[in-house]
Amino acid sequence: MKNILRTVCVALLSLSAFSQGSGLDEAYARIEPKVIEWRRDIHQNPELSNREFKTAEKIAAHLRSLGIEVQTGVAHTGVVGVLKGSSPGKTVALRADIDALPVYERNDLPFKSTVTSEFLGETVGVMHACGHDTHTAILMGVAEVMAKNKDKIKGTVKFIFQPAEEGPPPGEEGGALLMVKEGVLKNPDVDAIFGLHINSQTPVGVIRYKSGGAMAAAQSFTIHVKGKQSHGSQPWAGVDPILISAKIIDGLQTIISRETELTNEAAVITVGKIKSGVRFNIIPESAEMLGTIRTLDYGMKDKLNKRMMDMVPTIAKAYGGEATIEIRDATDITYNDPKLVSAMLPTLERVAGEDNVQEQKAITGAEDFSYFQREVPGFFFFLGGMTPGNTKPFPHHTPDFFIDDSGLILGVKALTELSLDYLNRS
Ligand SMILES: [Zn+2]
Ligand SMILES: [Zn+2]
Repeated sequence: MKNILRTVCVALLSLSAFSQGSGLDEAYARIEPKVIEWRRDIHQNPELSNREFKTAEKIAAHLRSLGIEVQTGVAHTGVVGVLKGSSPGKTVALRADIDALPVYERNDLPFKSTVTSEFLGETVGVMHACGHDTHTAILMGVAEVMAKNKDKIKGTVKFIFQPAEEGPPPGEEGGALLMVKEGVLKNPDVDAIFGLHINSQTPVGVIRYKSGGAMAAAQSFTIHVKGKQSHGSQPWAGVDPILISAKIIDGLQTIISRETELTNEAAVITVGKIKSGVRFNIIPESAEMLGTIRTLDYGMKDKLNKRMMDMVPTIAKAYGGEATIEIRDATDITYNDPKLVSAMLPTLERVAGEDNVQEQKAITGAEDFSYFQREVPGFFFFLGGMTPGNTKPFPHHTPDFFIDDSGLILGVKALTELSLDYLNRS
């Protein structure tokens, strides 16, 4: 009896803890089937980066139907909605990326994509193989819940539907960087931004996050090595660019192993392509290497870049050759502002349940949400999309990638409650 009483008390206590939210439970229940329907429609009609024309039209029509002020054509195909609450306050931005990938879908689903498109001169399948269809549908759901409950909002909510997260086609600008350039975080000025990424290998109902550097800055680099051509039997008559390349690769890895404080954050340098020479008995004139750098800390990123720029020409010079290096930014560090994370964690724990909000390791993959976080404090987290019990979930960007849409409603709740709590506390 005592035990039963205690169980009842604990149950009541936890019920009351959960009900301290915004009282939108009915609204969430009503929106869930719509979110799933939108997601399936978008999944079946995917569009590649910077070509999200129909997706953008659907989003804009939905936002307009809710009375939300809409701007289209932002960073090519982006859509931005501004919803003013019933009283003035801060501005919070919520971001969903909307683009799909050149992948042929292999799943057997009623809403499977059979779409094909042109990509770099080739015909390719198009699939939402990263789950951006779910992000789009979730944010459309959040917009509807919030527009219908404006009286609960103190301040303004900006809905950012972003194109080209996977990267614009060569020669084009796009994605978060272009949105920031076009002033998406201004007028009204954004005080904080939230975003999520669905994950095919995290169970439905679970949210994972990391404070600080959560995903890496991705940079690419090109190294040109110049030597002197000679007969393969007479290396003393030339300068061997292949040998110099080997020394450079060795040197670069030494920056990681001997000069980088790896207990602070992880860092990666990878040479992924090397091209030189034509024949077994010719020492060629030049070599070219391509690679990637991943860092999770701004100081480490600067230091690593500087050391690479110094080391590459110096090593080549030491062996009688010449080398240049060019480093290009692809995305910045997805840096979750620690103060914002600790302030907002109780909200996530309330909507998902404390045990379902889990801290995770940093990811050396990259995300262009980082460009928003470079301008304003932001919090980007991962939402479970794996059917519980699935022992062989497929990773993102593959033809078998699958998201269980019973996980989407938690995303709607999380983004809505984060916005309300952030605005109403300010
Ligand atoms: Zn992706
Ligand atoms: Zn993605």
